[in-house]
Amino acid sequence: MSGKAQNKISPLKGAVMRVIRAAKSAESRAGDLEALGTRLQTFSQAQFEHFQELPENDPLRQYPIATTVTQLNNDLEVIERAITQRQETTNQVFRNTVAFADTLVEVALEPAQKWFPQRVTGITYIHKEPMVRVIPYAPVALVGIPYSCLAAFETAPPPPDDSWSIWQDFVSIPHEVGHYVFRHARIPNQPQDEPLSVTLWKILKAHSFSSNPDPRRWLEEIFADIYGCVLGGPIVAIDFQDLQLNRSFSEFLTDDATHPIPYFRPIVYQKILDDYFRERYHKPMRERWAKKLAERPYVPRIFVGDSIYRMDEARITEDLVALVETITQVLRAKIGSTEKLDVFDTMNRDEILWPVKSAATNPSDEIELPDGAKVTPESNIEKWAYGKLAQLFEDLKSKPFGQSDTSAQFSPSITEEEVRALQQRFRDDAAQARAAGMVFEPTMSGLTADQVATLWAGGWNTEGPNTYWP
Ligand SMILES: [Zn+2]
Repeated sequence: MSGKAQNKISPLKGAVMRVIRAAKSAESRAGDLEALGTRLQTFSQAQFEHFQELPENDPLRQYPIATTVTQLNNDLEVIERAITQRQETTNQVFRNTVAFADTLVEVALEPAQKWFPQRVTGITYIHKEPMVRVIPYAPVALVGIPYSCLAAFETAPPPPDDSWSIWQDFVSIPHEVGHYVFRHARIPNQPQDEPLSVTLWKILKAHSFSSNPDPRRWLEEIFADIYGCVLGGPIVAIDFQDLQLNRSFSEFLTDDATHPIPYFRPIVYQKILDDYFRERYHKPMRERWAKKLAERPYVPRIFVGDSIYRMDEARITEDLVALVETITQVLRAKIGSTEKLDVFDTMNRDEILWPVKSAATNPSDEIELPDGAKVTPESNIEKWAYGKLAQLFEDLKSKPFGQSDTSAQFSPSITEEEVRALQQRFRDDAAQARAAGMVFEPTMSGLTADQVATLWAGGWNTEGPNTYWP
């Protein structure tokens, strides 16, 4: 960054004002978008003031201010996109796509609503890649979806061969929502209103995981994988198999410290299918992955930073399976007993649950593709799943979707006291996480643990445009 970071603060104030004013021109969600901008303004200002109190001569004072400037820019970028893509002057294809995706985010949030202090809404925007901005200052999951999603609303239909796959890019939505849930959910009636992530960590700490690297470092991603797959069904497992295959030879075997190693990630999905879905899905899925693996060049090694380890496949597999099992047991036990809401039991009655909630469908497992071919999970799991998804989404598309209401669904402003309470909550949560031995938040020399927690802002600084998705 050129120049002093704090010199960027006042020019950015004007930019925030412009975005807030522009929100009024959005055809849908205008109130929510304006409220989002207003809250961002108050929150970022309070963050700046907090760090400006560090001594003038502290050489590390610039760092938290610069980081907050970056995050403010990141949020302005996506809020501005969300507004522009909803303006009347924007092509109808954009407006329909984001309105449809907003609905999918709302449905994906629904099972977790009881775990949030207030009702959370979803706002989507079209972006270069699927991602989520976990923001602390408003009850909003800001979910990015890729440009290819626009194809779903183009007037000229795609060629029949592609028509069943155009919905694929919406499939990452429940996973992205899973990140929001991991960062914001609190198990009801837990002592001290404990964050879900800390509850999970404490229980996982009691288990012995012997593999290297320790799979608990992938906890957030694995949680999002579980949440996304339980909601979305086998199609999510297929999509995530395919995403791993996009990796280069070395990436495929690399531990990036947050995501399960791509070679092993489908094991997470396999375990979810084993536990929650019928045999007729998980068997073909296992065979599909085995076939894909057999086609790729492979060495039994793992790359971590500059080091190379021998891959202990059996042990990592065993640990991953145990990890998924423990997380789902915790969710079933803790949430089931206190709230009588066992999301995973109530949600897995149909094979693809997430769109099914809004679209009544034929539960038959045989479907007809646009070319007239009939497929079942056993005959071609891939075509079956994408075909099923296309049927469901086409059906959903023909019903009213999106919110026409332009008033805000949450209070448009946040007071300074509320922001201070929020900052205190970040510090309290981080203290609980530290006490549990959780190691997600970084330590930064020169900043106290409380300052790091304030800067990290409950996950605001984790998932950003530069993260390695999904
Ligand atoms: Zn993710």
